[in-house]
Amino acid sequence: MVRYGAVRRPLFNVLCALSLLLCVVSLAMWGRSRWVAMDHITIGVAQRPTVWTAIELDSWQGSVCITFDSANANVAAAAATGPRVSYRAFPIQTPEAKLWKGYTSHLGFIAESHRVGLRPKGSPPGTPPTRFMDTKVVGAPWWFIALALLIMPNLWLRKRARMRRNQELGLCVQCGYDLRASPHRCPECGTERVLATDEQR
Ligand SMILES: [Zn+2]
Repeated sequence: MVRYGAVRRPLFNVLCALSLLLCVVSLAMWGRSRWVAMDHITIGVAQRPTVWTAIELDSWQGSVCITFDSANANVAAAAATGPRVSYRAFPIQTPEAKLWKGYTSHLGFIAESHRVGLRPKGSPPGTPPTRFMDTKVVGAPWWFIALALLIMPNLWLRKRARMRRNQELGLCVQCGYDLRASPHRCPECGTERVLATDEQR
């Protein structure tokens, strides 16, 4: 019989390792923001009959942001012909990086929703917009993401410490059941007994 825990445990370990890896990546991205004003990835463009939508991922001034854009299909015709996934980096001090006004950040947290009116090209000033571009942005600082990603590795360390303590006390490493009367296998959860002396040999 395959016990549920036997499948769950390796998955937990994999998720903890992945979380730690992403934490390191987040810290690296946080450091990268000193040299790169913005990393910009368009991760999806969908063209429906009247509305064009795009999802963008930005690393901007030490924060990571996800942006949802939607606009009238005609407005975005040029963008829609481009690649479905594109990446651009804007190093600090480049004219494009200076042109980019960016988002309103509150300690690196970003939550914005705005609509920009677009006028036909070459129309005189005061012409009402004929089309609109809706933008929704949410973002959090990389350090915050890194901190959140430390939760799982922390659980892993606590679990390991508990298992070690249980082992030293002669309890089941998994469930803490007293194994003094059961030399081979835990009668409660079926885990094979690990003797404290086994590791030292
Ligand atoms: Zn047990």
